[in-house]
Amino acid sequence: MQDVARLQCPWCGERFETLVDASAGDADYIEDCPVCCRPIEMHLSIDEDGTHLAAGRED
Ligand SMILES: [Zn+2]
Repeated sequence: MQDVARLQCPWCGERFETLVDASAGDADYIEDCPVCCRPIEMHLSIDEDGTHLAAGRED
């Protein structure tokens, strides 16, 4: 099942929506920001409250 998650880019601060695959469970992956193209560390977690997506950046 695919879900839409909203997040804010940790590099440029722009907000955008991205599709996440909630059927695979928790996941960490890198996705490029659609605005500034810098790599965002995505931390996807699924629990009874729904889908949570946290964005971080490598330093
Ligand atoms: Zn960005």
